[in-house]
Amino acid sequence: MNIESLLIHGGIDGDKQTGAVSVPIYQTSTYRQNGLGENNGYEYSRTGNPTREALEKLISDLEHGYSGLAFASGMAAITAVLTLFKTGDKIILSDNVYGGTYRVLAKVFQNFDLNFELVDTSNIESLKNSITDDVKAIYIETPTNPLMTITDIKKISELAKSKKLLTIVDNTFMTPYLQRPLELGADIVLHSATKYLGGHSDLVAGLVVVNNKDLSDRLHFIQNSTGGILNPFDSWLLIRGIKTLSVRMDRHQENAKYISEFLDKSPLVEKVYYPGLKNHVGHEIQEKQATGYGAVISFVLKDTIDINKFFKNLKLITFGESLGGVESLMCHPATMTHAAIPYEIRQKVGIVDNLARLSVGIENKEDLIKDLKSAAELAK
Ligand SMILES: *Cc1c(COP(=O)(O)O)cnc(C)c1O
Repeated sequence: MNIESLLIHGGIDGDKQTGAVSVPIYQTSTYRQNGLGENNGYEYSRTGNPTREALEKLISDLEHGYSGLAFASGMAAITAVLTLFKTGDKIILSDNVYGGTYRVLAKVFQNFDLNFELVDTSNIESLKNSITDDVKAIYIETPTNPLMTITDIKKISELAKSKKLLTIVDNTFMTPYLQRPLELGADIVLHSATKYLGGHSDLVAGLVVVNNKDLSDRLHFIQNSTGGILNPFDSWLLIRGIKTLSVRMDRHQENAKYISEFLDKSPLVEKVYYPGLKNHVGHEIQEKQATGYGAVISFVLKDTIDINKFFKNLKLITFGESLGGVESLMCHPATMTHAAIPYEIRQKVGIVDNLARLSVGIENKEDLIKDLKSAAELAK
């Protein structure tokens, strides 16, 4: 089945018993058992719930994985994956990952002596020098948030395999519609399903997909033991969102292409970061490993523009955290999504104060351009 069909019919398609085309919401905490050790496959909803299972099977099908797991947020999913490691282990981390990923490692897991090192994973040679004996995994985002740095998933996975390390990919920005890291050799794929998969800014959820039984067993054990599961209603809502991913993403990308070209030419803009632009570093790798460029654009405004005024003057585009919804969202990485990253690191990697991140929605693209133009003009 092609991905557009799989988005709608993958996983557990509807309800066999009644013929309902929509998977029922099994709003239950527990299940009647018939006798000692006799049940119908379910005992307690932290351990297993049919609605959540339908979603878990769906994301696994979409990523071509062995199995999937659904969590209460992207961070809960990331946390569960990080608990695969032990005190003294070290993880190599792409150097402009999602701020919350950095924060949980720096402020929570560091207390348990799980170490990490920020590395420019787009540079394989420098990455090789960071692989010491305690390194157990390479954790990447590609494109990274917010600077759209591209990492070669296949090359990283090959290197990781040769050193017996796990490759973990946060695939939130691309979704399996555009990029499937497990097919390129990764072991674990993560999603903040809050973003494109949900797609409507109405839920918070996280997903994990793994490529083998051992990782699947270990993560199911962690999921049941630590309990950060996704509830039945949000599981259902997420299945509903996923069904329209291909049409939404097509429009998101059409708009993003148009807007990135507008920004690239604008005299009010210093620099544009969008993998779809031919001048974007890593554009060729992106073309090789994904079927599109997504719809997140970061750009640096000229310093003649007051960025706060620019944000305040936006009318159609919502100023706020998050991305991937049908509505366009703009944020200020330095003080919002990436505030947890120390100032010096931010400057070093390029998350400067005049940087804005735009998650391009599916509104009319001319309306979006009009809003950007007038907000920038009024902020001069
Ligand atoms: C939002 C986001 C997360 C965190 O997910 P939540 O659902 O907000 O917990 C992780 N990674 C990326 C790339 C994100 O954009």
